[in-house]
Amino acid sequence: MSEKPCIKCGGPLVSISLRVTTGMRTMYSCSECDYRVWEAEGSTTELGSVLHELSKTRVPRRNSRQ
Ligand SMILES: [Zn+2]
Repeated sequence: MSEKPCIKCGGPLVSISLRVTTGMRTMYSCSECDYRVWEAEGSTTELGSVLHELSKTRVPRRNSRQ
C-alpha cells in the first residue's frame, strides 16, 4: 500500500478501503485539513459514484427475510 501526501496541505493521508460489487474503493482522508479523495483501482473517482456502487452492494441486514 502506497502512502501519498495531501494535495492541499501535504499532510499525511489516511486510507480506508471499501469493497463494492465492482471492486475495491479506497478513500484517502487528510488528518490535517479534512481533504478527502476516493480512488477506484488506482484512479480518482467521484464520491457520488462510490455511493452509487455501495448502494448496489448487498449488505447483510438483520431484518432481512429468512
Ligand atoms: Zn491536508
